[in-house]
Amino acid sequence: MFLLFDTIAAIASGNSVSAIGIIRLSGNEAISIAEKVFTPASGKALSELPDRFLSLGSLFNFRGELLDQCMCTVSRAPNSYTGEDTAELHCHGSPTVLRLALEALFESGARQAAAGEFTKRAFLNGKMDLTQAEAVIDLIESEKDEAAKNAAGQLGGSILRKTDEIYNSLVDIISHYHAVLDYPDEDIEDFKLQSYLETLSGALSSLDLMLDSFKRGRIMKNGLKAAILGRPNAGKSTLLNALLGYDRAIVTSIAGTTRDTIEESVVIGGVLLRLSDTAGIRETDDPIEKIGVLKAMDAALAAELVLAVFDGSQELSALDMEALRAARAAPYSIAVINKADMPQKIDLSVIEQSFELLCPVSALDKTGLETLDAAVSSLFPSPETRAGEVLTNSRHYDVVLRARESLFSAMSAMEKGSTPDIVLTQAEEALSALAELTGRTVTEDVTTRIFERFCVGK
Ligand code: GDP
Repeated sequence: MFLLFDTIAAIASGNSVSAIGIIRLSGNEAISIAEKVFTPASGKALSELPDRFLSLGSLFNFRGELLDQCMCTVSRAPNSYTGEDTAELHCHGSPTVLRLALEALFESGARQAAAGEFTKRAFLNGKMDLTQAEAVIDLIESEKDEAAKNAAGQLGGSILRKTDEIYNSLVDIISHYHAVLDYPDEDIEDFKLQSYLETLSGALSSLDLMLDSFKRGRIMKNGLKAAILGRPNAGKSTLLNALLGYDRAIVTSIAGTTRDTIEESVVIGGVLLRLSDTAGIRETDDPIEKIGVLKAMDAALAAELVLAVFDGSQELSALDMEALRAARAAPYSIAVINKADMPQKIDLSVIEQSFELLCPVSALDKTGLETLDAAVSSLFPSPETRAGEVLTNSRHYDVVLRARESLFSAMSAMEKGSTPDIVLTQAEEALSALAELTGRTVTEDVTTRIFERFCVGK
């Protein structure tokens, strides 16, 4: 547990040489601590400056040695990111200068901020709800335009607004019921459960829409684990190269400690595919890797989407059938009929029995790759929901699912003609799930887990 309101400091910009580097401070002493290290050129004290005014000045350490010529701005509680007094030093972006400046702040009474502590304070001080706080880290970590825009929408409070409507309508129902029950002598309109049916069914379809968006949302945020599978010489390596060349937006090419952990990412049909185990595929001169169908099958087992590559210029072999079976075991699969530039001998009817999606391509000529785009986007269509309303977070999904189930039970009970108290118990369950979503009620361990994911300085 942190003692809230003590003053925390951290480098908020990355640890690399850049034009500007920012150090943030937040807490009761933020301004007075900044004042100890920063002297405005204007001769005015930092504490006399208005909020959000960028002041030029000099930065000194405890021994009075000049560290930088930089800028400083302050914001007073509650009008700041954290809701506390804050100060920001905009220094030259040298990791050394930033480290020395941070040390000077520690010597002056600040302490190192923990991961996510600024945003945690913003949440605890009511500056944002929990879904907005979670969107901060999603925005920072987003790898694709779509994910960034969605996180920006969530940061703007789109989930909060969406669920607040439902939350408020449930509160209306429950409070009306209790009012009638607790104050029978008052002139309160009679509680007619049926009159709320429309409200509840509206809420239910809103929640359903949010839940539906999660399939795409999860992929939007994390990408999709995918594997390329096929017998030796089917053209896996050529296809991988074609895809990597075709897609200019290669995101990662991580070499792990073993060849097995190489993962490459490529965007196909608007979906970020994380192709694992590409090491074996790439090293096609290696005779052992050439027998790599079995090895590739391991990757296929873990993959959500398998691209099964067949050589269209050859008849199907036993190894092809093995690849076919492995591909079918994956949740999603696409048959890539390669070497479309050559006369075709493959019996497509066999493939059609196992795959709904067949893409004729020539990996060598890089033709037909757009059919792969279409196939992937047909499997994972963009949600109808607006940016920001796509659920990307499994905590949100779990809680919305719980709210949905309780709401559904409430409606079923209503339709069966159950007594209002049975219906309302379920409505209250839905209410408490929604309260957990936005953080109206949330346990300490949940918040701790959420903010642990953050970087220091955020
Ligand atoms: P892998 O063992 O499945 O990775 O197969 P490779 O990608 O190494 O390809 C095997 C052979 O097929 C190589 O000689 C490639 O040049 C060739 N090849 C791959 N794709 C095509 C294609 O679309 N058309 C033709 N004509 N040859 C291809």
